[in-house]
This record gives sequence, C-alpha cells and structure tokens, in this order.
Amino acid sequence: MRITIDTDICIGSGQCALTAPGVFTQDDDGLSALLPGKEDGTDDPLAREAARACPVQAISLTEV
Ligand code: SF4
Repeated sequence: MRITIDTDICIGSGQCALTAPGVFTQDDDGLSALLPGKEDGTDDPLAREAARACPVQAISLTEV
C-alpha cells in the first residue's frame, strides 16, 4: 500500500512514528514524514495501525 501524509492537517503528535517506527519519522518541524524508501509503498501492517492511531486522520493508505 502507498501512504500519503497530509502535512497541512498533521499536528505533529508523533503517534504514527511511535506506532510504525519502520515507516514513519518526524521532520525538523515535528511533522510526520516517511522514512527513506517508503515513498513507493510498504507492506508493513503497522502502517495501517498508524493511520488508525493518527488523531486527525492525516494518513491515507492506498492499495497498489
Ligand atoms: S499521528 Fe497524525 S498528527 Fe501525529 S505526527 Fe503522525 S500524521 Fe501527524
């Protein structure tokens, strides 16, 4: 699945990086970012958990 992060609504809570540390990190502004190599997608099931954990639904998953 491919992951899209809407950084316009991300509040930098860090839940995604805590939940799926192999997929997400936080940039210098504290906003969510994908780790290198994850831009093209991931099969890490924790990515789905991270999307659910986001308090503002900033993470979208697309099956590819
Ligand atoms: S959980 Fe949501 S609001 Fe928090 S850093 Fe991740 S994308 Fe941003």
